[in-house]
Amino acid sequence: MTSNFHALQLIMELRRQGVTDADVLSAIETTPRELFVPKIFEDRAYENCALPIEAGQTISQPYIVAFMTEALKLSPKHRVLEIGTGSGYQTAILSKLAKRVFTIERYASLMRLAEARFRELRLPNVDTMVGDGALGWPSQAPFDRIIITAAVSKNPPQALLNQLSVKGLMVIPIDLGVDGQVLVRVKRTSQGFQSTNLLPVRFVPLLEGVASE
Ligand code: SAH
Repeated sequence: MTSNFHALQLIMELRRQGVTDADVLSAIETTPRELFVPKIFEDRAYENCALPIEAGQTISQPYIVAFMTEALKLSPKHRVLEIGTGSGYQTAILSKLAKRVFTIERYASLMRLAEARFRELRLPNVDTMVGDGALGWPSQAPFDRIIITAAVSKNPPQALLNQLSVKGLMVIPIDLGVDGQVLVRVKRTSQGFQSTNLLPVRFVPLLEGVASE
């Protein structure tokens, strides 16, 4: 797939911000972000910022997408669970770096839009489900990697921890209340879970249940 001038400028900006993983940068370079934003924001698709999408949600800032993807340390063998499909932009990036991506969104309308994009881009390895991501996808568990793109309060949902493989990694924004949100990486070992704080972030909240629209 070809990349345009604006995509290349964005890649240079991400490099300046410290993103070094060549596979992550190449996945971003070859994913047309203008397909994932509402028409009125098309000309801003390659700015390094979050933008509003339908249903009052947001498409994450490219830097955060790059940072979270890098933090997941993906391999082409990995089965990945993503919570919070939103526009599907992060999903598309993951699909280029992993074997299979299972993605859950609570808005059926957002999922329909995301699925149309996956078809247009011919991403063959993405499975979608409309549901409450906090429950995970038990019939497909365990997952080598889990990424949550909405903030949880205090702790990762237990169901998601249960569905992470031993040696697996989870990247999740956690809301600490007055201290704001921090992106955390959780590693599952044979003994339990170890977590590391990575970066202050700002995500929309993970909400309960399927959205009524
Ligand atoms: N990765 C997305 C970011 C979307 S914002 C992108 O790059 O476009 C977070 C998304 O999480 C929103 O679409 C929101 O509806 C969804 N979400 C919030 N709570 C959820 C839940 N419990 N289960 C599934 N999706 C949820």
